[in-house]
Amino acid sequence: MEGYIDVYVKDDHIEVMGEEFLLGELTVDLLNIDDNVLKQMGKELVNLERLAGICREKHIFYRKKLNVDEQRKFEIALDEIIKFPTYEEWVEIHKSVCLINDLFRTTKVGNLLWVPINPNFTDILKGVPCDSLRYRMGWIQYMEELDLTMGFVEDAFAFVRTIRNFTICIIPGLKKYDASHLAGAYGILMYDERCKCMVASENDSDKMTYTDKDFMILQYLPMPKKNGKGFVIAEYFRMDNLQALVKTDLLRGLMKGHYPRRCENCGRYFLMTKGYRTRFCDMSSPENPKRTCNQMAYAKKKVKEENSDNPKYQSYRRCIKRIEKACQRCTITEEQKELLLSKAEELYTEAMMSPEYSNEEFETMLQSKNLYKRCGIDIPRRKGRPKKEEDND
Ligand SMILES: [Zn+2]
Repeated sequence: MEGYIDVYVKDDHIEVMGEEFLLGELTVDLLNIDDNVLKQMGKELVNLERLAGICREKHIFYRKKLNVDEQRKFEIALDEIIKFPTYEEWVEIHKSVCLINDLFRTTKVGNLLWVPINPNFTDILKGVPCDSLRYRMGWIQYMEELDLTMGFVEDAFAFVRTIRNFTICIIPGLKKYDASHLAGAYGILMYDERCKCMVASENDSDKMTYTDKDFMILQYLPMPKKNGKGFVIAEYFRMDNLQALVKTDLLRGLMKGHYPRRCENCGRYFLMTKGYRTRFCDMSSPENPKRTCNQMAYAKKKVKEENSDNPKYQSYRRCIKRIEKACQRCTITEEQKELLLSKAEELYTEAMMSPEYSNEEFETMLQSKNLYKRCGIDIPRRKGRPKKEEDND
């Protein structure tokens, strides 16, 4: 990672390093990190601690970039008792750093924040005496990269462990999935004595800690909305660590009713943006990539998602209602209504039969402006009804 992490939260989206995601999307992706990847990263972390003599959670740079200037950072580094590795050790350290970097970039958030490292970096130090000023200064500079890498691994462990527990043990028990209940659930996770073991803490054997506060800079920025209609006050955050970022993604998401769920068929985590009790994800199932988990669950055990919990069915139903209303208001003709209804049904059948469209994509396809366009119908002008904010019509 170079420099700071620049983050904007606008409405129900988060923008990280110039790329936009639905709130919660980065969290779910990180929760889906392969367990073998995590294990390997943990192994490399231990290796780094041993070779570089850096203690877990005692960072010189990580979580300190924002509140410590360059000069002070340098002084802190000099105050520490620093272990200077031999050249051979440094080469091995660099190998681990490169490996962790590669492993991290298998996740969306890792890909956003990390650029590939030059694997041959240590070549320039070959033959430089270990006790020379050049070698020692080089190491102190290198320690910043190293410290950030190690901090990221610790944060990934702490966050994934804690939020997987939250998703599996607390969220499914909620009566309703709205912002209020989700906030209550997070309160239980953080403050209920019975859930103490679910939150990664320094009492755990590996000492990876889920922090309850994060240091960041916040600026409010009024800006035009993405669709060009009106304005929104965006929050601009500057952060320096992974937990601050993924927690902002998760918790701002909960505030908007977005929450993670775990698929009962494949065990992967997926993001819900509407409060249904959906049990299966809409990704390609591991057994048959041509079908979604939802379809596989039905094929295997005849377990069918209740329509009330099926996001695609709900999108389809809302779409039909919109079309019928438009016809009642005479904004479209009877023939146009039939055309739109049959197109919507065709799309619904297609979406239910293949893993091609995610729930979000399907919802977008059925939005009036897109559906009407598909049918070659001009979007009717609204009349007699005050315009509602954020209406999908
Ligand atoms: Zn699944």
